[in-house]
Amino acid sequence: MIYLDYSATTPVSYDVLESYLQATKDFPGNANSIHSLGVKSKTLLNSATKQIASLFNVLESELTFTSGATMSNNYALIGTCLANMKFGNHLIVSKLEHPSIYQICNYLESLGFEISYVDNNEDGLVDFEDLKRLIRKDTILVSICAVNSETGARQPLKMIRQIIKKENPYTFLHSDMTQAIGKVSVNFHDVDLASCTAHKIFGPKGIGLFYKNSKVPFTPLIYGTGKWNNLNPGTPALPLVVAFAKALRLAMQDIDKRENFVSRLNDRIVRELERYDGVWINHTKICIPHMLNISFKNIKSETFLHALEEYEIYVSTNTACSSKELSTSVMAIYNDKKRASSTLRISLSYLTTTDEVNKFLNCFRVIYEKLEGLKKED
Ligand code: PLP
Repeated sequence: MIYLDYSATTPVSYDVLESYLQATKDFPGNANSIHSLGVKSKTLLNSATKQIASLFNVLESELTFTSGATMSNNYALIGTCLANMKFGNHLIVSKLEHPSIYQICNYLESLGFEISYVDNNEDGLVDFEDLKRLIRKDTILVSICAVNSETGARQPLKMIRQIIKKENPYTFLHSDMTQAIGKVSVNFHDVDLASCTAHKIFGPKGIGLFYKNSKVPFTPLIYGTGKWNNLNPGTPALPLVVAFAKALRLAMQDIDKRENFVSRLNDRIVRELERYDGVWINHTKICIPHMLNISFKNIKSETFLHALEEYEIYVSTNTACSSKELSTSVMAIYNDKKRASSTLRISLSYLTTTDEVNKFLNCFRVIYEKLEGLKKED
């Protein structure tokens, strides 16, 4: 099998699984219980939370564990909007967000919030002038992803935050960092709120992180018992938290070295695929190398995906969460419906080998020639 869909999800690393199993076996107590088993679990929980807080250089109280990035995005947008509605009802989001952000925006619109969509340039970079123009006195939140999930376009969050705060110091910046963490370096201090998930960084499915700077007014969305993780009460998911802490620690090791390696693999694929007349490469200078998005001029991307599957090669048409729709991100960058309706996302990781890339390229050629040939015979 050749797995080239690391942006959809990643296999759980062996070390992370070990941590999960150990926490499950050796720490059965509810971390909210006051007896010794509970205290033992609570101590482990505190230590895992502390590790994560120190990796991002933030306070433990600024972190909430969620079920994944979708839930973290819900917290970030809804919790912040509800708490700040007395100051305004206007939000700005980019045109390169994950579908979950747009669905939350639809809900917020139904509550009376107004959403503006900031433009981007032909590289996928947020248009700073448009952003400045859109920020108003009543803009309470801007949400811009760190790395786009379909093309890998990466935004300069620090600069974006400076622009926002200069226009309106009371506007908060949220970033969905799901596709950035573990691939490229990120800094929670570049934003006021952030979301991410463990299953994209070789961690387990079912746990995400929501970061909220302590200064951001916030309305909790979930009510219940348990003081720890106070924005998401209930029994702490101790093994998942421990595994997430381990996955984050491992993901941040050698991040630059791994990025350089992935970059070489990406360059090799681009050089090869550029030779095909029927392929568009949707990769600009701000895209991270872990993703390579392409479009077919004459072939349905779904057909190509299933043909690759015959060789046990796995890729995506666009993000795993919206695989049947037009690629909104490719549309936002290239403004071409044909190009946006036939996208294929090849995603790499530091585990991808040169041999896998070569095999993929060989199979790609065979399938391409066959499907293009069939087109010509039509
Ligand atoms: N945000 C981005 C940028 C993503 O790529 C994804 C998953 O593809 C999500 C959010 C949703 O993450 P989760 O599956 O953890 O809810």
